[in-house]
Amino acid sequence: MHDKTLTELKAGLQAKDFSARELTEHFLDRIQARDGELNSFITVTREQALAQADAADQAIAAGDHRLLTGLPIAHKDIFCTEGVRTSCGSRMLDNFVAPYTATVVENMAREGAIMLGKTNMDEFAMGSSNETSFYGPVRNPWDTERVPGGSSGGAAASLAARLTPAATGTDTGGSIRQPAALNGVTGLKPTYGRVSRWGMIAFASSLDQAGPLGLSAADCALMLQAMAGHDAKDSTCLNEPVDDYLGGLDQSLDDLRIGVPEEFFPDNLDGAIADNAREALRELEKQGAKLIKVSLPSIKLSVPAYYVIAPAEASSNLSRFDGVRFGYRCDDPKDLEDLYKRSRSEGFGAEVKRRILVGTYALSAGYYDAYYKRAQKVRRLIRDDFARAFKDVDVLIGPTSPETAFQLGAKADDPVNMYMADVFTIAVNLAGLPALSMPSGFIDGLPAGTQVIGNYFQEGRVLNVAHRYQLATDWHLRIPGAFQ
Ligand code: GLN
Repeated sequence: MHDKTLTELKAGLQAKDFSARELTEHFLDRIQARDGELNSFITVTREQALAQADAADQAIAAGDHRLLTGLPIAHKDIFCTEGVRTSCGSRMLDNFVAPYTATVVENMAREGAIMLGKTNMDEFAMGSSNETSFYGPVRNPWDTERVPGGSSGGAAASLAARLTPAATGTDTGGSIRQPAALNGVTGLKPTYGRVSRWGMIAFASSLDQAGPLGLSAADCALMLQAMAGHDAKDSTCLNEPVDDYLGGLDQSLDDLRIGVPEEFFPDNLDGAIADNAREALRELEKQGAKLIKVSLPSIKLSVPAYYVIAPAEASSNLSRFDGVRFGYRCDDPKDLEDLYKRSRSEGFGAEVKRRILVGTYALSAGYYDAYYKRAQKVRRLIRDDFARAFKDVDVLIGPTSPETAFQLGAKADDPVNMYMADVFTIAVNLAGLPALSMPSGFIDGLPAGTQVIGNYFQEGRVLNVAHRYQLATDWHLRIPGAFQ
């Protein structure tokens, strides 16, 4: 059953080829048997999953089929889940049992989804390799000596290894798309405000967005259909009607105008990565799309602007974890000052501390104008670049990541090098646009991904382009040898 897409599993449940309980047990057993090699789950919720499966089987017997009835899904451990530990990959929240459930999780459960458990991630979603997790690194199922990317590394690795047929992730600067690329799966970051952030532990609130990771664009469409929508509990969640993502998948690509930004193919880009993305463009051209050269001159400033804005917001968001209001508390504090200091020193890992320091510095009196305000101006320039490009094209396409999965530890001591992992994804968050990464082949046995960026609320178009590509290719259906 694990070699099937979510869409196929949905059909199998409807045809009664297997029950929701059989399906759920199959994946729970795979997690139990194989996750020791990957460390992609922090928590597995076996009992709860089986109870949800039985409820789904009853619903199916009564003819009540919703979008996700009986389908198992793994949630990133950044989403609050009532009664279940929600760690955000941090010692700070190691013993935090959420008293409520995130809207995204709730929306999917309402459509009948079954939660298998909570996936591993970089601490507070800060990282590109899943090595900053308090629970240890996740390994890439294509080569377990390599990273799965991050921060949704557990989501992407568990999906690629078929330990779950679907997963949720979050993307602040690339955390859905980059791990999707490195694991050979499909991942979509929706338009900022398309999906509720309520109950999703905040990293950088103006950039964070939840989205689906699936084996195919069709699977992502199915999940997004359930996730998206207005939520009165999140004031940044927009009250726009949700498109029919599933209905729009098959649309022809005739006359689709694809912008190819020259900045996505810089001279120093790895030749194999560039060739891979160009090959994907050729396939889309064959289906009737037209390629148009475009330029996004300010996007070279996106990584530096992001590493001011994201840490600034993080330093503010993470101030609540002080050992009093929220989070880990140190043993035997001498006094209040000692309690704050040691709780935060012991509770946070090195990368999170680095971000808090950078963000606090960038926001402090005397530096605010030089760093934070300037970064916000750059952010506007980037947004304007995209707006200009989208006057002439429907989507923008280039590589998702400048490289395939790297060796564990390769960048652990080189944060700036690590930050460059998101060089092609970060601008999209700064502009608030939707973008998807789809598997587009292999380089030396490791998956490569191609990114499709759409205009605001054009998730449907982005999914359509990826779906048409996937009808003509089978990269997205390859399973890592050791996990067949
Ligand atoms: N890798 C980027 C960072 O470390 C993006 C992370 C994310 O999207 N959550 O901040």
